[in-house]
Amino acid sequence: MKVTFLGTGTSQGVPVIACNCEVCLSADKRDNRLRTSILLETGDKTIVVDSGPDFRYQLLREKVKDLDAVLFTHEHKDHIAGLDDIRPFNYLLHKVIDVYATDRVQTALKREFYYIFAETRYHGLPQINLHTVTNGEAFKIGESTIVPFEVMHHLLPITGYRIGDFTYITDAKTISEQSFEKIKGTKILVLNALQKEAHISHFTLNEAIAFAEKVGAETTYLTHISHNLGKHADVEKELPANIRLAYDGLSVEC
Ligand SMILES: [Zn+2]
Ligand SMILES: [Zn+2]
Ligand SMILES: [Zn+2]
Repeated sequence: MKVTFLGTGTSQGVPVIACNCEVCLSADKRDNRLRTSILLETGDKTIVVDSGPDFRYQLLREKVKDLDAVLFTHEHKDHIAGLDDIRPFNYLLHKVIDVYATDRVQTALKREFYYIFAETRYHGLPQINLHTVTNGEAFKIGESTIVPFEVMHHLLPITGYRIGDFTYITDAKTISEQSFEKIKGTKILVLNALQKEAHISHFTLNEAIAFAEKVGAETTYLTHISHNLGKHADVEKELPANIRLAYDGLSVEC
């Protein structure tokens, strides 16, 4: 499976509008972070996890020509805002996109994108098939088995996804032992790390490192990064060799 980081930034992205900090002004392309999402090419299916506000530009940048499914982690706007831009796959490829979300996230999608679910459908609406995700219950997309599990974003449950030796977690603050059981043994782990200072609903850099070391994956990539974390090149020097900062456009095989 090929994994491509479509975006690795927190909800405001990096640079932040009107910010003059050294990260936002950095000339290093790795300090430019669109909102967090990944592309999974499994061999028989093309899947994205979350479709944030930068979804259209991310798919153009990576020249994505096909899409089968969207997996949602949770309903915060930085993870769902771009769903409308699946429409080219509807009308160019004549595909209905499979959307996977928990009941609670489905309720939010029906509120935020009410027109997709309207009784009277006008021409050109996004076309989706909604599938219910229940944390702990594996499902298949093509040949791939997807294992969803719950992590906590302060009080909000978030869905993490494991596919074979790859595990993707964003927006976590705490992870139960029950979920750790689902994650352990993974070879490639993606984990959120917002900043160094404490935050009520996101792992700090040190909390992410501690959890990454507990899992002991071959490589952990950190994502959902704020401009407050510091410059990519500086932070990478502080990290253990098997824990790296992800950056937009990075691809890994697993
Ligand atoms: Zn987020
Ligand atoms: Zn800044
Ligand atoms: Zn969130």
